Formats: sequence, structure tokens, C-alpha cells
Amino acid sequence: MKAWQFEGTGKPISLNEVPEPVPGPGEVVIDVKAAGLCHSDIMYMEVGEVSMPFLPMTQGHENAA
Ligand SMILES: [Zn+2]
Repeated sequence: MKAWQFEGTGKPISLNEVPEPVPGPGEVVIDVKAAGLCHSDIMYMEVGEVSMPFLPMTQGHENAA
């Protein structure tokens, strides 16, 4: 599947191929049709990798199923 990902401060977000998620015990996977960016995503990109526990970070959490 495709995901827009933040890879580091000053870099444009990248459209990357990522593995399909696999649910663990007690989890489900929801088929999301689209996800929008909001000010939180912009803040993460402006503050940069100092605030990120891991990179790359998939952007968009305003989902539409
Ligand atoms: Zn948001």
C-alpha cells in the first residue's frame, strides 16, 4: 500500500510503498479510503525528528473509511 511519510526536517514528505498492516491479538485493521493532514502533522514536520521516536512517520490521521 502507499503512504505519505515524513522522513526528516527540511525534506518534502515522500509517497512510499509500505507493508499492509497485520493485526496483532485483540487488534483490527480498518480499510481507510483516505486520510487528511492537519496542523498536528505540520507541527511534527516543523519541529522535526527531535520529537519523533521513529522515522519515517506515516502522515495523516484524519481518516475517512
Ligand atoms: Zn488532527
